[in-house]
Amino acid sequence: MTQPAILLTPGPLTTRPETRQAMLRDWGSRDEAFIALTAEMRQRLLALVHGEGSHVAVPLQGSGTFIVEATIATLVGPADRLLVLVNGAYGERMAAMGHRLNRQVETLSWNEDQPVDPARVGRALADDPSITHVAMVHCETTTGLLNPLAEIAAIVLGHGKALLVDAMSSFGALPIDLRRHPATAIMASSNKCLEGVPGLGFALIDRRALAAARNVCPSLSLDLCDQWRGFEANGQWRFTPPVQVVAALVAALRHLEAEGGPPARLRRYQENFATLAAGMTGLGFRLFLAPAVQAPIIATFHSPAEGWFRFEDFYRALAGRGFLIYPGKLSRADSFRIGCIGAIDPADFQRLLAAVADIVGEMKAA
Ligand SMILES: *Cc1c(COP(=O)(O)O)cnc(C)c1O
Repeated sequence: MTQPAILLTPGPLTTRPETRQAMLRDWGSRDEAFIALTAEMRQRLLALVHGEGSHVAVPLQGSGTFIVEATIATLVGPADRLLVLVNGAYGERMAAMGHRLNRQVETLSWNEDQPVDPARVGRALADDPSITHVAMVHCETTTGLLNPLAEIAAIVLGHGKALLVDAMSSFGALPIDLRRHPATAIMASSNKCLEGVPGLGFALIDRRALAAARNVCPSLSLDLCDQWRGFEANGQWRFTPPVQVVAALVAALRHLEAEGGPPARLRRYQENFATLAAGMTGLGFRLFLAPAVQAPIIATFHSPAEGWFRFEDFYRALAGRGFLIYPGKLSRADSFRIGCIGAIDPADFQRLLAAVADIVGEMKAA
């Protein structure tokens, strides 16, 4: 099967033919073969972050946003108080979810180019002992910024609070080790660094915290405590599972192991990012983030201010050559984004850069 375009986006992203191949059959959702596939998926997800001793893996149908909302709805009760650390659109979205759920929500905010400051989080927790949960975004995909997970986890744990981590665009590549920096919940989805197809999210949740969360969730379908109890009872999903998505994710997880696990995947993404950043800088584009806070997941570039650049034209010209990039998501500056994740390597970025050089020449001449 041919790949129509390379997706240089933060998901859905370019997948391997073997991953798509795994979807070419039907599965009975209550059949033993699919129950085994679900069990393998849940076990592999836990093992990636060393959570086997403490956590359970709870997958949920839907995109990444569904698992984030389900996790907040399941773990944060009406008497709790949620502090959301915000330096981009995904932090904002978690705060909005808390409000929709009628939960007590506080936010601490930073500019989009600034990482969360753990010391300021510590002061906020000391000042307001009524806070019970802290929610953060590991890699803020809005910009590609990496927040200091280990330092924030240590502070939150030191205050005895629960930490909920949106690790959507980092899980499977950037280091996350639940033995070293415990978090109550880590949330991610099938279609980012795991290089599966879109259709499911999952949360790795501290077993005791989840067991204690019975009847907290105001939604039936988003209740991860019930979802988990379903898996524990008979290995089956409560409601129709995205069977092909599960099959593709298991194929992708087996491949991740064969590739050398998250450290090898991170190296490939770092090479992708380095190739892209050097090439684009050479062509006159400027990165939005300082190198110290840049994750090798997605790169945000300033749109050139000169009159020749129009993102829509640039996008369409690149799409015509088989590369799909992403518009910017910054609240203040004009920008665009190019993802470094997916089943792509530096050779793909060399081809992209040659196309960008051509297109810039054409746009400037026009
Ligand atoms: C992709 C992403 C999500 C979920 O987005 P969906 O479009 O629902 O898959 C949430 N948080 C972060 C940080 C993300 O990168």
